[in-house]
Amino acid sequence: MKTRAIIHLDRFLGNFNAVRARIGQNRRICVPVKADGYGHGALQIAKTSLEAGAFCLGVAAVTEGAELRKGGINAPIILFSQPYPEEIPAIFDANLTPFVSDSWFIDALNETALARKTRLAVHLKIDTGMGRIGCPVDEAAALARRIADCAGLELAGTATHFAVADSSNARDIAYTEEQSARFVKAVDSIRAEGIDPGIVHAANSGAVILHPDTWFDMVRPGILLYGYKAVEEPENLQKLSGFEPLRALPVMELRSAVVLIKKVKKGDTVSYGRTWTAANDTNIAVIPAGYADGLPRLASGKWQAVIGGNVYPLAGRICMDLCCADLGQQTDVRRWDEAVLFGGQAPDAAALAAAAGTIPYEITCNVSKRAPREYKN
Ligand SMILES: *Cc1c(COP(=O)(O)O)cnc(C)c1O
Repeated sequence: MKTRAIIHLDRFLGNFNAVRARIGQNRRICVPVKADGYGHGALQIAKTSLEAGAFCLGVAAVTEGAELRKGGINAPIILFSQPYPEEIPAIFDANLTPFVSDSWFIDALNETALARKTRLAVHLKIDTGMGRIGCPVDEAAALARRIADCAGLELAGTATHFAVADSSNARDIAYTEEQSARFVKAVDSIRAEGIDPGIVHAANSGAVILHPDTWFDMVRPGILLYGYKAVEEPENLQKLSGFEPLRALPVMELRSAVVLIKKVKKGDTVSYGRTWTAANDTNIAVIPAGYADGLPRLASGKWQAVIGGNVYPLAGRICMDLCCADLGQQTDVRRWDEAVLFGGQAPDAAALAAAAGTIPYEITCNVSKRAPREYKN
């Protein structure tokens, strides 16, 4: 019973259906499966999503898209980030749908498409205030025209990405509304050129939760589908009236087991740096899960293991391959008992993230391949 990540696909489906119910049947869902499905396993998540009615998938690397194709995925796969020139052939081999945001990339893709006697779908990415990839709002129409004039390309979609949609702070709400207004203006300018912008999409998890007016034709919620509400829904937010509260259940659980129980004496220290000293004689459980498995070292001294439904504080530093839990002087815990490190009976990855000073995305992404994924329906 080694350290492993349990992936509850039934919970993923529940989250997917909750999003579907919220946005309505007429909109499409793009499921971001970048970074191996936020650590959950891209292929399994892709299959589950498509069976549930997702329209397409999103990846960040060309190799991620190619892996999905190798796994038998036929649905459209959007490539969210800007690839290198030498990756262009692989984009065609895997028939990925890249975000484009400048004329160099448009022309390079078109050249390859013509040479291969094929046509590639692309989405125009517009930077409305994220400050990352995407073209300026006032260049959107010209770039859309350039794409429309390319015999090898098809403008299949137009998109933007929000910087603070996962905040219910009034300034951030206003900023997202401003980004959305700039996006609408850019899309209108494309239509005014007589060009069909294709599928119009913008909303990440935060925007699915807080900004119904940004759902357009398709939404791209990631972390929400994996079970973490990017933001709580404020009850007093006017534009949310009429919506049922969204329910999301964490999909991943990290489980290990007690491989050794040892007695330590009052005054003994445990683990590197000797940061923890036994206040009394006690029992220490050694658990083979460490930061190389994805248990963040920054959570040392701030986290716990759940064994047999009881909570035991971790003692001392989390090591590369091990952590230790303080079982107390009297304990029912037995060697080989299962220990839950996050999710399930234990607090979830969002709580662990808070303890380690990060976000749940980083926790689930960092669960390494040393911890096999075990899928449960
Ligand atoms: C990762 C990503 C998303 C999903 O973001 P969440 O915060 O997980 O909902 C959506 N769109 C793009 C372009 C992304 O890169």
